[in-house]
Amino acid sequence: MANENKRDYYQVLGVSRDAQDAEIKKAYRRLAREYHPDVKPGDKEAEEKFKEVNEAYEVLSDAEKRQRYDQFGFAGLEGSGGFDASGFGDIGDIFSMFFGGDMGMGGGGRARGAQRGADLKMNMDITFQEAAFGVEKEIEAVRYESCDACEGTGAKPGTSKIRCPHCQGTGQVRVTQRTPLGQFQSIKACPECGGEGEIIEAPCPECRGRGRVRKKRKLQVRIPGGVSSDSRLRMAGEGELGNHGGGPGDLYIFINVRSHELFERRGDDVYIEIPLTFKQAALGADVDVPTLEGSATLKVPEGVQSHTVLRMKGHGMTRLNTQSRGDQLVKVVVMTPTRMTSEQKELLTRFDDASGKDNYKNLAKGFKQKGLFDRLFRSSKSSGG
Ligand SMILES: [Zn+2]
Ligand SMILES: [Zn+2]
Repeated sequence: MANENKRDYYQVLGVSRDAQDAEIKKAYRRLAREYHPDVKPGDKEAEEKFKEVNEAYEVLSDAEKRQRYDQFGFAGLEGSGGFDASGFGDIGDIFSMFFGGDMGMGGGGRARGAQRGADLKMNMDITFQEAAFGVEKEIEAVRYESCDACEGTGAKPGTSKIRCPHCQGTGQVRVTQRTPLGQFQSIKACPECGGEGEIIEAPCPECRGRGRVRKKRKLQVRIPGGVSSDSRLRMAGEGELGNHGGGPGDLYIFINVRSHELFERRGDDVYIEIPLTFKQAALGADVDVPTLEGSATLKVPEGVQSHTVLRMKGHGMTRLNTQSRGDQLVKVVVMTPTRMTSEQKELLTRFDDASGKDNYKNLAKGFKQKGLFDRLFRSSKSSGG
């Protein structure tokens, strides 16, 4: 191995040596997308970077390999079978890591024959309200589709593919290898035609011989009420098209719900705090409270204590995949009046003088230490004048 030119794996991923697994994964995802060959087609440098990033991730994501690398550097990894970053060529592989192995990728790119198209990813920002009730959106999705000019052949219109002169159209070549144990012959896919048996003599100018071009499509996406920022929507068959009869990949939409200036989400419930005057709290009141669908009346019961959480049934988020909704939780916060006039102070003093322990009885239950309430009450009454 020519290790002297290799960059340190932590440096490659731009993480510190004590980075956690999640951080390594995150850095890897970002870089893999950045240098992905489909993002920068034909860019040799990006391709090298992509391989480098994959190799670094293969080691740092494996606890055992990472430990050996930490201890012995690149030398610690030799003789362990080396790397196989070569087949790790498409987004599909990357996605199958993050979504589990049920993506039907069939080893993405290693085998000839039917190949499922790669999965695509897209980010979408939605408002709090849209997350609560669901929304239909039109998105523009970009993927490679068959080139119209050459009908997907990659050959310049008016010309067609010719039989590969290197393999005489068989798609295979015989390779002789000399080794200390003797000569070996093996059969490989023809490097000229990639095993197709045909080559393009004059490439299509539209697609530069690739047979496919990036196309924008408009798609209608229905986002169900109750989604959150962890939600991913899968649009089956909207990913890259497959090869050799393989089906298309899927499009994954990663949802990001923007925060709301008033509401906070608590599972399926919506949380808000509202201020009450002392009188409203003491006598009870009908209070206008903002909800997701405008203002609604909350009946505050008589004698409510500050920081009590009241429940407005059915005013919360839609429960995902149901018609039902969570509740709105309203924490009432009793405001203490300030900057009072002498008249107000006098009225309040008269009120306090007229109040007895019975007025605060229910509050006494809230105190853990028996007797504490009695003591506090007595001292405040005596020092209050
Ligand atoms: Zn074309
Ligand atoms: Zn050939």
